[in-house]
Amino acid sequence: MQRLLWRQASRPSASSSPSLSSLAGRFQRASYASSPFAARAAPTPSRLATRTARRSYSSEPPKGSSSSIKFWPFLVIIALGTGGYAMVVKQRAEMPAIDAPKKAGELGAPVKSTPTFSADDVTVVFVLGGPGAGKGTQCANLVKDYGFTHLSAGDLLRAEQERPGSQFGEMIKDYIKNGLIVPMEVTVQLLENAMVADLDKTGKGAIAGRKGKFLIDGFPRKLDQAHKFEDAVCPAKMVLFFDCSEKEMEARLLNRGKTSGRSDDNADSIRKRFRTFVETSMPVVDYFETQGKVVKVNAERSPVEVYKDTQKRLEGVLGKGF
Ligand code: UDP
Ligand code: MG
Repeated sequence: MQRLLWRQASRPSASSSPSLSSLAGRFQRASYASSPFAARAAPTPSRLATRTARRSYSSEPPKGSSSSIKFWPFLVIIALGTGGYAMVVKQRAEMPAIDAPKKAGELGAPVKSTPTFSADDVTVVFVLGGPGAGKGTQCANLVKDYGFTHLSAGDLLRAEQERPGSQFGEMIKDYIKNGLIVPMEVTVQLLENAMVADLDKTGKGAIAGRKGKFLIDGFPRKLDQAHKFEDAVCPAKMVLFFDCSEKEMEARLLNRGKTSGRSDDNADSIRKRFRTFVETSMPVVDYFETQGKVVKVNAERSPVEVYKDTQKRLEGVLGKGF
């Protein structure tokens, strides 16, 4: 199924896979639920006036009413109401969830209890750092020397954005321009599909037990992504964190923006990306730090110096011949 999804996703002429469409439906419903239009109309002054006029604040019984109040009709109403409510609750509990996913492995499927890949077979290294910290540059070096497969979440999202027929193209474009994190279901599934495709280079489909080494660059940028990826795809062995000041990163990004053609390499988007990084992505680094998985490299220096340090630190954790 995952291979099928990948093939559909990678065929430029193919329309979006059914799973992509089911996910699009989820987002529409989700955004409607949180939309201000879904909220109840606020009471206008005239509505309030009407309600107040209908209300009676008198504690005296209305003239001519009988002093002996009959309670039994109230008791009947309460009994019927309680029984009806119990029935509705029971029926609701038996109904399937509105967003019940179709099959495991589809986009938007619930987090699986066992990951697709075992950490014994597949080495996953998350590569984190602020925008412009040098993740891409250092990943290219590591690919050359250690035979990693480099998967940049940002590159996968940009490719999906450009794919003709993608239902997520517009959404991804907006999120990236504004430096926001694309909903995790999309990114996690793109990464998993890319990993499956890499391990299944022969196209025969038997990926169980295959060995692989992946640098997952620029991901996870949010805690929910980290949990979902580790639960559903593969637990990470370590996190390489490139630590760099905003001043230095901004200078690098503005310089890259002269030629990168990226919609987010401009002063306005850079500011928003920095904010997302500090508020949303740093907690991911802190979380992995509590698990002792983070290797922090000073990325303020020249690419050569940073790489030397990276090699030493990486081999320190994974061993020389990993
Ligand atoms: N992005 C995302 N989720 C991810 C990774 C990236 O939504 O897991 C989006 C986000 O909007 C981010 C943009 O893609 O600002 C660019 O990411 P990339 O990793 O290419 O930027 P870099 O950090 O390399 O400058
Ligand atoms: Mg990058």
